[in-house]
Amino acid sequence: MKTGFGLPVFPGVAIGPAVVYRKTERALPVSSGDPKVEQAKFDAARETAREQLSALYEKAKVELGEEKAAIVEVQMLMLEDLDYLDGVAAAIEGGAAAAMAALDTGEEFAQVFAAMDDEYMNARSADIRDMSRRIYDILCGNAGFQLPEGSFLLVAEDLAPSETIQLPRDRILAFVTRQGSSSSHTAILARTLNIPSLVQANISLEEAEDCEILAVDGFTGSWYMDPDQETLAVLKEKQAEAAADRAALESYRGRESVTKSGKKLLLCANIGCPEDAEAALAADAEGVGLMRSEFLYLGRDNLPTEDELFEAYKKVAETMGSRPVVIRTLDIGADKQVSYMGLDQEENPALGLRGLRICLTREDIFRPQLRAIYRASAYGNLSVMFPMVASVWELKAAKDLCARVRSELEAEGIPTREVPIGVMVETPAAAVLARELAKEAAFFSVGTNDLTQYTLAVDRQNAKLGQFYDPYHPALLALLAQIAQAANEAGIWAGICGELGADPKMTERFIAMGYTELSMAPGRILETRKIVCESEA
Ligand code: PEP
Ligand code: MG
Repeated sequence: MKTGFGLPVFPGVAIGPAVVYRKTERALPVSSGDPKVEQAKFDAARETAREQLSALYEKAKVELGEEKAAIVEVQMLMLEDLDYLDGVAAAIEGGAAAAMAALDTGEEFAQVFAAMDDEYMNARSADIRDMSRRIYDILCGNAGFQLPEGSFLLVAEDLAPSETIQLPRDRILAFVTRQGSSSSHTAILARTLNIPSLVQANISLEEAEDCEILAVDGFTGSWYMDPDQETLAVLKEKQAEAAADRAALESYRGRESVTKSGKKLLLCANIGCPEDAEAALAADAEGVGLMRSEFLYLGRDNLPTEDELFEAYKKVAETMGSRPVVIRTLDIGADKQVSYMGLDQEENPALGLRGLRICLTREDIFRPQLRAIYRASAYGNLSVMFPMVASVWELKAAKDLCARVRSELEAEGIPTREVPIGVMVETPAAAVLARELAKEAAFFSVGTNDLTQYTLAVDRQNAKLGQFYDPYHPALLALLAQIAQAANEAGIWAGICGELGADPKMTERFIAMGYTELSMAPGRILETRKIVCESEA
């Protein structure tokens, strides 16, 4: 048995096989100098790709149905595309290595598809990239990310949001990363999935690869490789106790979240993708307080179309029915990067072009989101809020575009409903200007993750700054009180949607400050309701 520690980000115990996720190495392959040899290598790799894809197709058909499996079928057809094959042959004749010819020709085609004025063809650019990358990986000997059957604990150096989005969420028992912080998006995902997870773990990826059983204790932050019988028995007992505690919370299901003195709170869920709305309902959420819409933009090679966004929002709106749903517009930038938007590398991305700043400078990105939100508004109870607001003019500019989009849609005969427009208060400037912003906003939702980072000037991603990232810092508490007071004076509601919203130490304090909504990982709702219902506040 080998054991060590990490920073726990969600309690619970997980036991199972470990899978190590490594980023693919992409050393540039070199040509043998003989085009015939390179062409033969390409042909063999194409054959392997064909076999892999047809196995994948059969699997997808059984597990996901014909419709989803068709995505794989498209890639199989692309493998036979004569234009693509001619392009590769020409590149090889021109001296390129087989792997580079496959990859570069794929990229050229992908860009042509992406520039077409046809949504279907635009979406195909991701398929051609995927397909050519598969050939590239085969030629470079990159095995890719092999997942076992069944559930597993995922061990990695670190995970970017674009990587976590591609993981089979229902099979992951725990995350253990060597880097990351408790407010990083891997940690947020772990909380959304209710899985015990550790960041900043002193674990060796090589040893994890060799171990048979990995266990994680998310209560203490310990991990165990191949635990001995005694340790295993203790961990299993803890696991059973945690399950019993969860079962005891079931008596709070279906109840109102009201304090003993009659103060009513709305306990909502934070979600990433539309499917999470089901998890929100299953967790008895009274609404969605934060839909992180940027997750619809991650893990893909092109911008989602207005129709794709509309379908996603409509699904959430319909799933939640009359319960309120707050959609946050795109918050790309900082730790959530996508290559296809063509944004520059920045020295200081957390202080750079992110959140609403991108939207206000790129109407081509902002407009489809707002149109999709207004179109989906007819199907439920939607509100919208903007991330990273620092000035009143930003809110006014965004509201202006909302009004224009809504009247355009009405003119096109597309039904819309009133969509309350709120501000995510997550910059100190917005907190200080809360009184001014409250005149223009229908509600405030405080992003305590970023508000902590920007108030204390502490990078939320930096694992070395843990002791300085203090969400109970008096400066932060003063701002939180000030925001709620400004909202109450203006007669608008204020909520918390950062990680602090689920902190049991803060629940009563938030109620006392005047917050009426708390939004959190679905798995935290019942325990927070217990605190609210037992509170004298
Ligand atoms: C926050 O900053 O608190 C927040 C909820 O948004 P995100 O964590 O996605 O930045
Ligand atoms: Mg934020």
